[in-house]
Amino acid sequence: MPQELNYWLTTVQMPVSMAQALPASTDVAVVGAGFTGLSAALSLARRGAKVVVLESETIGWGASSRNGGMVLTGLKLGVNELIAKYGRELTRRMYEASLATIATVERIVNEENIACDFARTGHLEVACKQAHFDDYARQVEVIAREFNHELRVVPRNQLRSEIGSDIYYGGMVDEISAGLNPARYVAGLGAAAMRSGAQIFERTPLQNIQRESHQGTHGFRLNTSRGAIWANNVLVGTSGYTGAATPALRKKIIPIGSFIITTEVLPDALAHELSPRNRQIYDSKNYLYYYRLTPDNRMLFGGRAAFFPENDQTIRKSAEILRRGMIEVYPQLRDTKVEYVWGGTLDFCFDIMPHAGRFDGVYFSVGYAGHGVALATYQGEKMAEWIAEGKTDNPFAEIPFPGAPLGLYNGKPWFLPFAGAYYKVLDWVS
Ligand SMILES: Cc1cc2nc3c(=O)[nH]c(=O)nc-3n(C[C@H](O)[C@H](O)[C@H](O)COP(=O)(O)OP(=O)(O)OC[C@H]3O[C@@H](n4cnc5c(N)ncnc54)[C@H](O)[C@@H]3O)c2cc1C
Repeated sequence: MPQELNYWLTTVQMPVSMAQALPASTDVAVVGAGFTGLSAALSLARRGAKVVVLESETIGWGASSRNGGMVLTGLKLGVNELIAKYGRELTRRMYEASLATIATVERIVNEENIACDFARTGHLEVACKQAHFDDYARQVEVIAREFNHELRVVPRNQLRSEIGSDIYYGGMVDEISAGLNPARYVAGLGAAAMRSGAQIFERTPLQNIQRESHQGTHGFRLNTSRGAIWANNVLVGTSGYTGAATPALRKKIIPIGSFIITTEVLPDALAHELSPRNRQIYDSKNYLYYYRLTPDNRMLFGGRAAFFPENDQTIRKSAEILRRGMIEVYPQLRDTKVEYVWGGTLDFCFDIMPHAGRFDGVYFSVGYAGHGVALATYQGEKMAEWIAEGKTDNPFAEIPFPGAPLGLYNGKPWFLPFAGAYYKVLDWVS
């Protein structure tokens, strides 16, 4: 059994926020110190706003330090499905936003000098079935025609130039995507937000929010474990860790566990054979695997192996499932030692789409469905712009935000085993 430890956290020293009393009031209170909250806090503080970030645990404690570090274009749903659902114009704006997310991360990394191994490696999606591969050609054509963005189909007989595995039916490459070390990135975002003047309060969970006027101005009283603070505006960026403090939002989010194993350092030749172009790779299943090399040549291999959020049991079980999955993809790693395993919680909405908006006047941005490294950063900036300027052109704020069918959900995902089984069946039949 490998060590239950997040590999990325062994590569970084997280910044520590100041231990001081909560101020009585602030312009904006941000809940959650992950990519969403910190990128919003940075952007708002740079605009001169007084910003307080409340975080239950520590900076980057949530999904933002636990993920695969894949900075991906696109959304979880394919473009044909998006066009059918939202029409051409809105889909075009969503897709443009998804492309802009990568440049946003790159710009912040450069502006704030964040040493997080950001590299435009491109991503490779690999087809687990012939039908999935056939669909790639259709997607490439639609994306080129509708969004003027070039993807490349890689037929099976050329796939070895992209990946050292023979189990797939072909692939599709997007050169725009990138990879980074997420723990270093979120640490850098936190440090940058503080340098710009934002105050971050760790181990300060929000308990509830009440509307309250203060000196004639409408706003909110936020009750926290350290006392109350009044804010003119509130942004909630709690993603898969959204809890009882924001019940209306909690009901709209399904927290789903995702898990990662990481091997020992591989010899250069083997690493090159597994991923000759150092891509961010994921497969075409619903119950998918995603994998990549780390900057120091380990294989990092993740998946929704257990579906339930992380705990000792799901992490242990996932380590075994993921190791078997890794060896199916890469038999070359049969004798390679797995050194790390950890889990984290992703946020899915019922329509598998990102959503931004306001609940009772409180701003939120959630639902990144495995695309949050780039999208949460971008959405954080867009939310800051919305709060500061009072208007937004954010396409993810314009779409309906569905709750559970028949309203049968109070934020405790009793249906996850059924959903897990459903997706497994879908992977057999589609
Ligand atoms: C294992 C794993 C692998 C992933 N891989 C990728 C990938 O390769 N590429 C990609 O794009 N995305 C990936 N994701 C998704 C991505 O990590 C998330 O979408 C993104 O980090 C969400 O950022 P966030 O800031 O919105 O939320 P989080 O980083 O989850 O932060 C939310 C924070 O809110 C805090 N919080 C919750 N409630 C309260 C409260 N009441 N008071 C105060 N604070 C509170 C939590 O403590 C937490 O720190 C992955 C996720 C996981 C779990």
